[in-house]
Amino acid sequence: MTHPGATPSDKHKVVVIGSGFGGLNAAQKLKRADVDIKLIAKTTHHLFQPLLYQVATGIISEGEIAPPTRVILRKQENCQVLLGEVTNIDLAAKTVDSILLGHTYRTPYDTLIVAAGAGQSYFGNDQFAEWAPGMKTIDDALELRGRILGAFEQAERSSDPVRREKLLTFVVVGAGPTGVEMAGQIAELADHTLKGAFRHIDSTRARVILLDAAPAVLPPMGEKLGKKAQDRLEKLGVEIQLNAMVTDVDRNGITVKRPDGTIDRIEAATKVWSAGVSASPLGKIIADQSDAEIDRAGRVKVGPDLSVPGHPNVFVIGDMALVDGVPGMAQGAIQGAKYVANLVKSELKGADPAARQPFSYFDKGSMATVSRFSAVAKIGKIEFAGFFAWLAWLFLHLVYLVGFKTKIATILSWTTTFLGRGRSQLTITEQQAYARTRIEQLEEIAATVEDEKAAS
Ligand SMILES: Cc1cc2nc3c(=O)[nH]c(=O)nc-3n(C[C@H](O)[C@H](O)[C@H](O)COP(=O)(O)OP(=O)(O)OC[C@H]3O[C@@H](n4cnc5c(N)ncnc54)[C@H](O)[C@@H]3O)c2cc1C
Repeated sequence: MTHPGATPSDKHKVVVIGSGFGGLNAAQKLKRADVDIKLIAKTTHHLFQPLLYQVATGIISEGEIAPPTRVILRKQENCQVLLGEVTNIDLAAKTVDSILLGHTYRTPYDTLIVAAGAGQSYFGNDQFAEWAPGMKTIDDALELRGRILGAFEQAERSSDPVRREKLLTFVVVGAGPTGVEMAGQIAELADHTLKGAFRHIDSTRARVILLDAAPAVLPPMGEKLGKKAQDRLEKLGVEIQLNAMVTDVDRNGITVKRPDGTIDRIEAATKVWSAGVSASPLGKIIADQSDAEIDRAGRVKVGPDLSVPGHPNVFVIGDMALVDGVPGMAQGAIQGAKYVANLVKSELKGADPAARQPFSYFDKGSMATVSRFSAVAKIGKIEFAGFFAWLAWLFLHLVYLVGFKTKIATILSWTTTFLGRGRSQLTITEQQAYARTRIEQLEEIAATVEDEKAAS
């Protein structure tokens, strides 16, 4: 199927896959280029992932971090935004197939920019996902909000102390930035926001556990900042369990193997998975048709110009790309997008593709919040922690949020939460809280119906 509404054009065709940091920035940087851009993404929004944990813990609304892509690009006339999940890329035919509600659309390209990002990795144990959602999408964040607040609600109605304890135990797996932020915010939710709101339970007695198979908190930020984050979390009452390898996750809890081989069981109704990422499967589709290699996380090893070996018109950027010295962070995707857009523009003006300068990444540093008024930051060789790191974190995240109204709404939400103890987004719905388990049940029912059909 072709794209209705699209004007046939003999301009250079650029297809961008993904509306995250990489995809959106690539399209925007081509604003003044004489090209015809099709941006295809499987969600209608541009998601600011670094603040997902604040949606999950009721600080901000999903709309504040996920503005509609087509509205952002409304004035960019050379770009058409198309909703659909890309299922195939044909490097020889130079086409991309995407599906929307059962219809497959084929889009031709002259230049392809693939920025489909990464999903959660359960290291081969995808069955854990049902009971320990990750933190990659708006659906994940809203479902987690439903589970976290729903656990407090159930505990209030429970007269069984053992069940109550299980309901009030929250386990976050993975002590990277997302895990640290999530554990800190669940602890503050229980200690500040919900304090005194229940009659039968005391929310401040909730147990929050942050565990990791690694021996340190925030390993990429170094020992000193990791220790600072750990101390601050412990002051908040978060239990940190390191060298703890998760071997099983089920409805009622989590099983952990210690370094001495002991197996422990933690009874916990709410589990959050923030350990490990796995690049989009589109990476493998590209590797299968080219000389590109993929690593264990599914990232495509691109050339110094971010192109796929043997295909100078196909670029992979952001979390999907494996480039030495470039971390899987927003800056990696944004800078990659700018670099590729500049190549496309200069080559349209006649620059020689064989003379491309290699991509070079400028490290602007990394940060993670631990709790209100406390963060850790590493900028070049400078490391700092505490209130000033937190202010720097607030400022930077505001700068990168897309849209003026979004920034204002976020400032208001932060003021309510950080200066008072309220959170403006504590609404949960049954559909959010049970989403994943119900969808899986529907899939099981559908599979049984198919089996029965096949057998008859
Ligand atoms: C919870 C969390 C917190 C983070 N915190 C920070 C932080 O504090 N600082 C920082 O720098 N980085 C942070 N990151 C990492 C940062 O968000 C990523 O590095 C960045 O988003 C990568 O950009 P990208 O464009 O490669 O992928 P994404 O931003 O993930 O975008 C991928 C896009 O591709 C689309 N897509 C995927 N598959 C398909 C398909 N088959 N068809 C069509 N569309 C598809 C998606 O819908 C999405 O629009 C965080 C990530 C997470 C998950």
